[in-house]
Amino acid sequence: MIEKLENILLHVVQRNPGEVEFHQAAREVLESLAPVLTKHPEFTEHKIIERICEPERQIIFRVPWEDDNGEVQIHRGFRVEFNSALGPYKGGLRFRPSVNLSIIKFLGFEQIFKNALTGMPIGGAKGGSDFDPKGRSHREIMRFCQSFMTELYRHLGEYTDVPAGDIGVGGREIGYLFGQYKRIANRYESGVLTGKGLDFGGALVRTEATGYGLAFFTEEMLKSRGKSLAGKTCIVSGSGNVAIYAIEKVQQFGGNVVACSDSDGVIYDERGLELDIIKQLKEVERRRIKDYAEIQRRAVYRDGGNIWEIPCDVALPCATQNELNGKDAEILVKNGCIAVAEGANMPTTPQGVRIFLDSGIAYGPGKAANAGGVATSALEMQQNASRDAWSFEFTEQKLQQIMTDIHQRCHDTAEEYGTPGNYVNGANIAGFIKVAKAMVAMGLI
Ligand code: NDP
Repeated sequence: MIEKLENILLHVVQRNPGEVEFHQAAREVLESLAPVLTKHPEFTEHKIIERICEPERQIIFRVPWEDDNGEVQIHRGFRVEFNSALGPYKGGLRFRPSVNLSIIKFLGFEQIFKNALTGMPIGGAKGGSDFDPKGRSHREIMRFCQSFMTELYRHLGEYTDVPAGDIGVGGREIGYLFGQYKRIANRYESGVLTGKGLDFGGALVRTEATGYGLAFFTEEMLKSRGKSLAGKTCIVSGSGNVAIYAIEKVQQFGGNVVACSDSDGVIYDERGLELDIIKQLKEVERRRIKDYAEIQRRAVYRDGGNIWEIPCDVALPCATQNELNGKDAEILVKNGCIAVAEGANMPTTPQGVRIFLDSGIAYGPGKAANAGGVATSALEMQQNASRDAWSFEFTEQKLQQIMTDIHQRCHDTAEEYGTPGNYVNGANIAGFIKVAKAMVAMGLI
């Protein structure tokens, strides 16, 4: 990295002590930007990088609620409104015990560039809580969501900040959050949250969007190398929203998905996983992935197993940040993997990314490859604004076009800036330039 960018990064690290995930995300973007500064001296003059690394607003709040035993519980809520140069803040909410300010800031920072890449008018934000929905009753989840929204609502609005789901926040939680917003604000403001139920302003394809979009992006990467997903052996980590619909679309493309996982272990079936069983276990019964092997006895379950050791052509990390390290990347490359595309946000460690880039395999970073979710959220906002509801086919076609365009943008930008085939540079540079130009135009705010 050039000295100027090193100095900016050093400043970011010093101003945000201990926030290692945020430092990692900032470094990853800044490493791509040297050629941009040469071409656009106005970005240096206006201190765009320094400004982009500082959130516009950070909100941290207490979330008190009462569990089913009548005991008082206290959690911490976060919303980091990072950048609104392109539109209202937009980004998901994550409920998971590991959530802290660093994780929310890394996710919010990534979201700025991802949202820019979609070509839609949305800024970047992220939020959540260290609350663990696992094992909680529906009524407990509802009480928690109501308390969370009782503070958050004052910061939201369809033209201000529009949250969605992420890990631990699905349709059920969005429903409770929307209900409480509506009650407090006394406004039926459909566009204030996305990922809503279909009966109250939700959009078809939003549930499938991140996973489907990931498969579309992967297919585009392979196509640019004269290949396709058809007939390829694939592994997908996680078994949540993103993983399930990535598996579905990969299977529709003719790929054979042989393994997936949860935070306890890995299931493997060389003849291909049965998605209906996974959906029933995870979406309906909220059980563990190990139960799959009890239903489909052909499958093998390995407690604490490492999914990246399973030989494959295509690997799709769809679980969480830093789930794939340098050693895992080496194993994947050695086993003949030809493409890795990230459904999760920052699932590959910097060492892993380096290995993928050096090996020359097709590597699609999350901010490009998983942008289908937020893009379809923006489509949901469009439908809410026009009080319209589009068909599944129409929306899916739009999603496919958006992912094709994102791929093209990353591909062409990487080439223009002298690193053909490097989607990391392509995504970082294309996303950054769009936001930076808008910030310059709007003056010092
Ligand atoms: P879910 O909560 O639906 O699913 C997460 C899945 O990952 C669960 O199966 C979980 O298992 C598993 N998991 C978590 N940690 C690990 C681990 N260390 N090893 C293996 N499996 C693990 O979340 P989503 O599918 O919505 O999100 C997954 C990722 O995709 C996140 O990084 C998120 O930020 C990103 N993303 C999501 C979008 C969306 O639209 N939902 C949009 C763009 C990105 P367990 O049940 O054991 O916790």
